[in-house]
Amino acid sequence: MSPRAGAVLWTASRQALGGELDLLIAAAHPPASSPAGAAIALAVSLVRPESRGTLRLRSADPRDRPFIENNLLATARDRSRMLEGVKLSLEIGRAKAFASITGSEVMPGDQIRDDAELLRLIDAQVGSFQHTTSTAPMGGDTDEWAVVDGAGAVRGVGKLRVVDASIVPEVPSAPTNLTTIMVAEHIYRNALAR
Ligand SMILES: Cc1cc2nc3c(=O)[nH]c(=O)nc-3n(C[C@H](O)[C@H](O)[C@H](O)COP(=O)(O)OP(=O)(O)OC[C@H]3O[C@@H](n4cnc5c(N)ncnc54)[C@H](O)[C@@H]3O)c2cc1C
Repeated sequence: MSPRAGAVLWTASRQALGGELDLLIAAAHPPASSPAGAAIALAVSLVRPESRGTLRLRSADPRDRPFIENNLLATARDRSRMLEGVKLSLEIGRAKAFASITGSEVMPGDQIRDDAELLRLIDAQVGSFQHTTSTAPMGGDTDEWAVVDGAGAVRGVGKLRVVDASIVPEVPSAPTNLTTIMVAEHIYRNALAR
């Protein structure tokens, strides 16, 4: 990335619950549209979203692709936390420390005047980390949403197990690759020990 900016800020929004760190700001790949040919992009992520998406089967044929609806930023609290994160990123990007290496602000720039306009820009730009999880969540006996138990065994279906990102009980704030590997190794070791 040029100019080089490498740091991650992991922090709590004003609406964070129970000490969670729900906002992540990281230097990311600059947008290809940068008029200067080089740019620093500060990507803001809401890593403890309360909005929930859906996954529905199209048919009983496993080769048919399912319907996936991410439903990003669907709650007022998610929207205001994301707005807070974007404003924090603007404060960082406009700070003196960056002034000596940056020229102008590509986005949002001067034309964005208030929160409503900034939210419209967020809606137009929002994407996903692709860290989709929890479509077949693990849970206890009294959890009506639980699809599998703590060993990944599908409730009520005998010996069938699911061991992948779908069984993580709720969307983790951490990247899901290592999380999934950790869950799989844990279940495998427990199965061997029995
Ligand atoms: C574009 C993208 C970028 C990502 N970047 C990161 C990142 O930087 N860091 C991070 O931590 N996570 C990242 N993730 C998320 C991470 O890759 C996933 O959370 C993780 O791979 C989930 O593991 P899984 O085993 O549940 O599923 P998968 O890794 O998707 O494994 C499912 C496997 O099942 C196979 N399969 C599917 N259907 C069948 C079938 N009918 N028969 C046999 N095999 C089948 C597939 O080929 C695949 O190999 C990214 C995801 C995407 C899509």
